[in-house]
Amino acid sequence: MTVRVRFAPSPTGRLHVGNIRTGLINWLFAKGQHGEEGGVFVLRIDDTDLERSTKEYETGIETDLTWLGMTWDERHQQSARFPVYTQAVERLKAAGRLYPAYETQVELDLRRKVQLSQGLPPVYDRAALKLSEADRKALEAEGRKPHWRFRLEGKRVKWNDLARGPCEVDTTSLSDPVLIREDGAFLYTLPSVVDDIDMAITHVIRGEDHVTNTGVQIEIFEALGAKSPEFAHTTLLVGSDGAGLSKRLGSLSIMDLREQGYEPLAIVSHLARIGTSDPMEPAGSIEELAAAFQFGKMARHPGRYDFEDLARMNAAVLHAMDYASAQPRLQNLGADLGETFWLAIRSNLSRFADASLWARVVGGTATPIVEDQAFLSQAAALLPQTLDGETWHAWTEAVKAATGAKGKGLYAPLRRALTGEERGPEMGPLLALIGREKALKRLAGEPA
Ligand code: GLU
Repeated sequence: MTVRVRFAPSPTGRLHVGNIRTGLINWLFAKGQHGEEGGVFVLRIDDTDLERSTKEYETGIETDLTWLGMTWDERHQQSARFPVYTQAVERLKAAGRLYPAYETQVELDLRRKVQLSQGLPPVYDRAALKLSEADRKALEAEGRKPHWRFRLEGKRVKWNDLARGPCEVDTTSLSDPVLIREDGAFLYTLPSVVDDIDMAITHVIRGEDHVTNTGVQIEIFEALGAKSPEFAHTTLLVGSDGAGLSKRLGSLSIMDLREQGYEPLAIVSHLARIGTSDPMEPAGSIEELAAAFQFGKMARHPGRYDFEDLARMNAAVLHAMDYASAQPRLQNLGADLGETFWLAIRSNLSRFADASLWARVVGGTATPIVEDQAFLSQAAALLPQTLDGETWHAWTEAVKAATGAKGKGLYAPLRRALTGEERGPEMGPLLALIGREKALKRLAGEPA
């Protein structure tokens, strides 16, 4: 049986690290399956909420997934499937599992308060089930429109969760869920089940905030005469301080991370490894992450999202990037000065875009930082005629012998003069790339 999973974001905002982690785990699980093709990753746009969903966010989801390398095999859109959901509604009505209720929010809130004050669980009392045909007509004549509730069987719903082990939800302790609002809009619960059935989803992988939903949805699968898929509920992410991420999610959108210069491979490696027994190191590719993915490696406690880990992974991805991968991006930055240049600078980068600074230092103009011109002039006089990767070592030895400067007092002034920067990549390859003419001007204190 081919594994089929779905990632079902709602296009009501940009994807953030929390929901992309769910998507990624789905992707890794599917693509890590044995066999040529691996499993099928379905992208489902959950846009039943027509007021809050936008095309712009939908495009944003696709942009982010594509950028991260999370290609999808099928794509579906809930807003195009309303007739299918309506059919399911008719079946549930015919089976006596969907009933109209007329309470307003204010009435429901009041009832809940009374229940709580009596020490009772705030569960919907099913008053609407007792309405007669005449009662309903009367309410509708008053101008009330019904919302529709699914009548739970009320039982211990059990499943063996791939991430959490044996799970159980007692649906007797839950209110009958509203599936259709009074304006006729479908809430998420039913369309999701109908789609999981129609799209032959074998594994529903999502955050553990959906555990209770799963209890309800398994009842709906059964009411529709379908076999439930397997479920995996992953832990949610917390910040490095242990607090929930939700307040800061705005700053953790994939779009923001992209704009801040994080590499897609660093982001997916980081997200795939949070809360697992794997080392916090970047993988060579997203496919490699998929091949290594196992639910068994994931801890049961919440994963900590730590920016320092991400920054470290990002640097490691850049340090290992070959010229063929870097070249088109260097070109885009106007910083493609060849392979030797890339190899000289990559181990110093924390963001790819910093390559343009070094392209300027090497190929453009830098303003030297000069403190002791006499020292620099002495060094200039000792600069060999031809420069190569070995020059720096021999030259600084000669400058040391001539001036007595050593350590930082020797290297730092030369670096500052030659690059106009306090820090940077190793000077050996850089000096050769800068070339003799520019080096001499900069050593003379002139921008060049
Ligand atoms: N659109 C739902 C959400 O983002 C999907 C949940 C699910 O995976 O079933 O929460």
